[in-house]
Amino acid sequence: MICPHCLQGEILNARIIKTNELIKICDECDTIWSTSETVSDQNGRFIDDFMKQRNCSSSWREFDIIKA
Ligand SMILES: [Zn+2]
Repeated sequence: MICPHCLQGEILNARIIKTNELIKICDECDTIWSTSETVSDQNGRFIDDFMKQRNCSSSWREFDIIKA
């Protein structure tokens, strides 16, 4: 699926390693959705805000990418 925000990146399924939380993330603009959300340009959060709320850094090292 192509990201509705940047229209370039691919949406990947991932897990936040520290919290075990499943998310969707754009590999281009790093916008994050929780898996309960429908991915659209009306939602999605900036990686910095999303990760700061969980006391994690905004690094892709925080994620375990789940291959489809
Ligand atoms: Zn994107």
